[in-house]
Amino acid sequence: MSISQAIEKVEAHYAHQPEFIQAVKEVAITIQPLYDAHPEYETLKIFERLTEPDRIFTFRINWENDKGEIQVNRGWRVQFSNALGPYKGGLRFHPTVNQSVLKFLGFEQIFKNALTGLPIGGGKGGSDFDPKGKSDSEIRRFCYAFMRELYPYVSKDMDVPAGDIGVGGREVSYMYAMYKNLTRESGGVLTGKGVGFGGSLMRTEATGYGAVYFLESMLEAQNDSIEGKRVLVSGAGNVSLHAAEKANMLGAVVLSVSDSQGTLYDTKGFSQDKIDWLKAQKEQGKPLAEYVEIFGGEWHAKQKPWFIKADIAIPSATQNEVTEDDAKLMVENGIKYIVEGANMPLTADAIDYVREHRVHYAPGKAANAGGVAVSAIEMSQNSVRQYKTFEEVDAQLKTIMKNIHDSAAAASECYGQTDNGYIDYMAGANIVGFKRVADALVAYGILN
Ligand code: NDP
Repeated sequence: MSISQAIEKVEAHYAHQPEFIQAVKEVAITIQPLYDAHPEYETLKIFERLTEPDRIFTFRINWENDKGEIQVNRGWRVQFSNALGPYKGGLRFHPTVNQSVLKFLGFEQIFKNALTGLPIGGGKGGSDFDPKGKSDSEIRRFCYAFMRELYPYVSKDMDVPAGDIGVGGREVSYMYAMYKNLTRESGGVLTGKGVGFGGSLMRTEATGYGAVYFLESMLEAQNDSIEGKRVLVSGAGNVSLHAAEKANMLGAVVLSVSDSQGTLYDTKGFSQDKIDWLKAQKEQGKPLAEYVEIFGGEWHAKQKPWFIKADIAIPSATQNEVTEDDAKLMVENGIKYIVEGANMPLTADAIDYVREHRVHYAPGKAANAGGVAVSAIEMSQNSVRQYKTFEEVDAQLKTIMKNIHDSAAAASECYGQTDNGYIDYMAGANIVGFKRVADALVAYGILN
């Protein structure tokens, strides 16, 4: 079956899953040259096989709120592909979570994990539970209830979830506690655990820091540097604030962060003390807008950051947050580099637009792979029951991000996608990630 026939099949079967179709097409449009060079992929229906998850578990979660009322939510775990290793991918708690969103995230995760060069497969999970406004006791009861349903399907060598939107260290710890309680097993069933009970140093920072390390390699490839560059970050969560932190450390001027309520614009840039304040503010669930009373700057309610003139954009909030109109605004405002901290933050039209305008564009599966890379490093530390230092993990993360950059750039060159110094990272990353998984599937025959 050809790639185009496989897409038609996905569109016919999953017409009600737009995010999943979008993610499949984004990979499909870039891997044709690889497919042409490997006729065995078509014979073995590799693309078709990779667009159908190995399995999906779905379950009901009953839990009790602070008023003693019973609440009901839905949970899922998508085990997409274990061709390269245990299923690996985060859990998202957000009211927009559904099967389409989790399948898109799980599909992306297969190739992202392959790009790290580490032995991990792809998966994703979560719930339509909304953590906003919930008390700590409610979060704890929900996490316990969620893991009570999930635990039969995960284990340290088979499927290893982590955090994502709405799931940070606190939630992972509650779920880990319930897993241990039910199974009596200590080990690496979840990553992103607290440091001191199996968690890796640097896991919290890894995705945001990794995205900036990737950006450094992109700039270097253009004989440029991050020093003094004006950077726009969207979101104010784990990825955003650590991307802002690392960019600031390396001498860039970070002009914005944002959340679902609006954008914070500080012409002086977010220094470390301001970023620390933002972290504490978001952790307590308080409004970003209060920043202006303390540090000055501007609050733009219900606006995204792309109206600001800058050199680099790191969209790090959520999928499809950058539309074609936003992309036009970015180009008008001087953005030359886009690094996806979030998963699929650009719509398909926005990607087309920025690539046509030769904006250097790093897709999330390459640029935000630092988080899962350090998760895999956490798994290896758990296996040998030893901890690495912050510096050791940071050095490993830098090497991994550089390798991802260089292998994507080399594939872009090798498959004729590099033009006058413009590196097609989207094509390069998809080709490298897809090839690693496809070659494993070819070796296995028809299983997996
Ligand atoms: P967090 O929950 O820590 O932060 C998410 C941020 O995005 C919040 O500031 C939130 O605002 C904002 N946001 C969420 N939805 C919307 C929306 N519809 N419109 C505007 N803002 C929104 O999540 P993470 O930082 O962990 O994840 C962010 C992105 O990065 C996701 O796409 C995730 O899949 C991806 N990612 C995360 C990794 C990780 O290690 N955490 C690894 C790789 C990718 P508010 O607080 O107002 O809701």
